[in-house]
Amino acid sequence: MLYGEQPFAMAAIPGLDLSRLIALEVSPVLAKKVIGKEDVSVSAIIQRLGNSDWVRQGIRFLEHTDEQCPFCQQEIPHDFEKDLADYFDETFEADSKSVTDLRTKYFQLSDELLIQARGLLASECTHCWR
Ligand SMILES: [Zn+2]
Repeated sequence: MLYGEQPFAMAAIPGLDLSRLIALEVSPVLAKKVIGKEDVSVSAIIQRLGNSDWVRQGIRFLEHTDEQCPFCQQEIPHDFEKDLADYFDETFEADSKSVTDLRTKYFQLSDELLIQARGLLASECTHCWR
C-alpha cells in the first residue's frame, strides 16, 4: 500500500429536515396585522401610537383603581373599561394567541434541530480526522 489505508465508503450524512421550521415561517398569521377592533373610540389613538401592548398590560391596573386612571390619577369615563374590552375583542385575543403559540413552537423546533445538528457534528465528523 502506497498511501495509507484503503479508501472506505462513508455513510451519507443525514441532512437536517428544516421543512417544519420553514412551514411555520410562512404561517398566514404572521402576515396579518394583529390590531383591535377599529370602530371603538379608543382605537384611533392606540393605532396611531402603536401602543396596544402597553395599553393591554395596563388594563389589569384599572381593576384596582375605582375609575381613576392608573397613570394620571384623573377620573376616567364610565365606559372606558368597556371600550377597552371591545377594542381587545375575541378576534384580537385569538390572533395574539396564535402568534404566541407559533413563537413557542418555533423555538421548540429550533431547539430540537440544534440538538440534532450538534449530534451530527459529534458523530459523523470522526471520519474527517483520519
Ligand atoms: Zn390618565
